[in-house]
Amino acid sequence: MQYHIQTTPIWDAFKEPCDCPVCKLYERVENRLLKQYLEEAVMEPDYRVKVNKRGFCSNHLRKLYTGGNKLGLALQVHTRTDNIIAHIPTVSNARAAKRLADKLEKGLETCVICDEADEVMERYAYTIAEMYANEPEFPALFDKTNGFCLPHFILLLRYVSHAGKKAEAYVKSLCRRQTDGMRKLTNELERFTRRFDYRSTDKVAHGNNDALSRAINKIKGNIVKD
Ligand SMILES: [Zn+2]
Ligand SMILES: [Zn+2]
Repeated sequence: MQYHIQTTPIWDAFKEPCDCPVCKLYERVENRLLKQYLEEAVMEPDYRVKVNKRGFCSNHLRKLYTGGNKLGLALQVHTRTDNIIAHIPTVSNARAAKRLADKLEKGLETCVICDEADEVMERYAYTIAEMYANEPEFPALFDKTNGFCLPHFILLLRYVSHAGKKAEAYVKSLCRRQTDGMRKLTNELERFTRRFDYRSTDKVAHGNNDALSRAINKIKGNIVKD
């Protein structure tokens, strides 16, 4: 089976116990892209054209800002700002103002890094389905996971058809892993809340401190860190 993307990172991500192996894959992709936009992409005309047009979302702009290349980022933000100015005509009535607001709002969170990362993550999603169908040892490994964060569960659901004849087994396992993983976390969260009960005598037995952050990350993707 010829895959469209390297499978080693997938094996590695699934082997390590966690709440979402796909988040681990995303982190690798995102870090590579952040580095790219702080290094070689700065002076590369093709990249600059894309940055001018699409810019960066708030999340990635924040990460680029602390990424250690203020000059490189300033050059890219400068041309992006020029591009935004060019798209703000002086409008003269309420209707045109609303239209302009809609147009600008659409471009508010567009992002070259998200665009590229989404493309790679789609490839990962269908490769995982293909591996479930074609790699004899993968289903057993898959069945040991604690499911995925909700955004990545949704992504995997969209590409179930790539498991071909094994699609039914794959989607069943996918759903079971997801609900089992979420249930485990809900129980941990409940134990965590009991820590705050003043009548409780055994605080240590009542769940891990990270239950809340893990539950948030489970339903939203990796958005908070302890
Ligand atoms: Zn995830
Ligand atoms: Zn982004």
